[in-house]
Amino acid sequence: MPCGTNHALHPATRPKRGLRALRAEKAGAELFRIDGVVLATPTRSSIQIGRAMHVDPLTGAWHLIEHSCSPNLLIDFDRWVWRAARDIAAGERLSVNYLTTEAEMVVPFDCRCADSGCFGRIAGFAHLDAKAQWRLRGHVAPHLRRVADNSSGGCIFGGRSASCSRSTPMI
Ligand SMILES: [Zn+2]
Repeated sequence: MPCGTNHALHPATRPKRGLRALRAEKAGAELFRIDGVVLATPTRSSIQIGRAMHVDPLTGAWHLIEHSCSPNLLIDFDRWVWRAARDIAAGERLSVNYLTTEAEMVVPFDCRCADSGCFGRIAGFAHLDAKAQWRLRGHVAPHLRRVADNSSGGCIFGGRSASCSRSTPMI
């Protein structure tokens, strides 16, 4: 699917929330771009891209994408696109882990995704302990990697160093 189109997507009508894939997508496929207006403060539908930078889609449909602790989408921060995290079936509801972009959720909530690795309270990446932050290492936004390493002396994403505690997750 060419990037920048929404042909693969349509708002779910039943239930009314969410967004579903119109057709099957292969793992790694680029579904659509992240674009919108950059704001200094978050909204309920924005994606955080920096310490005080949030992209709001305004007219795009991706604000309908729901949270999951085991999502079928991820954000490719090198190309600024939404990408299939695994094979996606036609009609499947699209989801992303909000904890991979948001330091502080505008509206925290309790996740009930039933995944064995559910993060529970979704309040933002800054509220996770080091172990939970480490679990997200493959998909977390660059600005959150900096937050984690600033608070841990580089022990979470910065790699092993002599000053890192044994209890801190390491590469
Ligand atoms: Zn969950």
